Amino acid sequence: MSDGRSGVAPAPRTIQAWRMDGNDGVVTSCAACGKRNRILRARLQDDPVCGHCKQKIFPRKPVLVTDATWTAQVEESPIPVLVDFWAPWCGPCRAVAPVLDAIAAERAGRVKIAKLNVDENPGSASRFGVQAIPTMILFRGPQQIDQLRGAVPRSVIEERLDRVR
Ligand code: ZN
Repeated sequence: MSDGRSGVAPAPRTIQAWRMDGNDGVVTSCAACGKRNRILRARLQDDPVCGHCKQKIFPRKPVLVTDATWTAQVEESPIPVLVDFWAPWCGPCRAVAPVLDAIAAERAGRVKIAKLNVDENPGSASRFGVQAIPTMILFRGPQQIDQLRGAVPRSVIEERLDRVR
């Protein structure tokens, strides 16, 4: 890719979703009920509550993401997303799973943990050059901002997430 953007070409509606709207807000879907909520940018770090179901908007546990839901779940997320590329037959992936569960709960509202099954979703895996699993890639909107390969210790994952502001 000669333009330096790694082939990531967000659709116009993607950009609109995670950029500020005219009133300094972002629109995102509630993890509990799926309804759209508008959140003021300044309140994003406050782990906001859904205006429809009154549950927390951002998930407390890892969410499943597929090639089909990638744009909505990852690129349009107003908070950073750590995507775990995994497969059920992968032992090291299973070892990392409880760590990701714990991080999703502790960092709820600050980072979204997403899991993508590479066998069922080869499009996303090849698009991001995932050749071995587990691979964890941290995204902010459509942009990759960090990458971890292998079943790294929890402390390493936490340290990388601490760098994201
Ligand atoms: Zn809701």
